[in-house]
Amino acid sequence: MDCDRGLPGVPVKENDGANDDRLMREAVVEACRARDRDEVPVGAVVVLDGVVVGRGCNQPVHGVDPTAHAEIVALRAAARTVGNYRLTGAAIYVTVEPCLMCAGAIVHARIGRLVSGAHEPKTGAVRSTMHVLDDPSLNHRVEVVGGVLERECRELIRVFFAQRRPGAKTAIG
Ligand SMILES: [Zn+2]
Repeated sequence: MDCDRGLPGVPVKENDGANDDRLMREAVVEACRARDRDEVPVGAVVVLDGVVVGRGCNQPVHGVDPTAHAEIVALRAAARTVGNYRLTGAAIYVTVEPCLMCAGAIVHARIGRLVSGAHEPKTGAVRSTMHVLDDPSLNHRVEVVGGVLERECRELIRVFFAQRRPGAKTAIG
């Protein structure tokens, strides 16, 4: 697992498989950061015009903050970088399918494209338990791409829980 890289500000083209992989690796770097702090390893980056403008790792325990999911942390960082709470045209890369709260935040931020890694059968609100972003009552549409670096993203979660709860079955993997 390559957890040592981190290339904020490196321009890359979006909307192509190779670049989706490359940007997801940036989210994996954040997930490793969470893991190294004993938080559930989920990471996210927000990309605007080919540039990473916000990064975040899951940190509810250390942050004493139930909303401190990777996506929320990355969206807040991106909004500060851009100086706008709307991130119109931006993409978010997240290692695990977003929960309901994060899917809602993605809509509030007007993110145009969501690229996710592992499916989350228990709390994933985009494809697994709900299809919340497809709800016709929303006035904003998000393009959704799932399963990017799926195995790598899922493995981070699986190993994390296997080390903490030997013998226990995890929701992911
Ligand atoms: Zn979430």
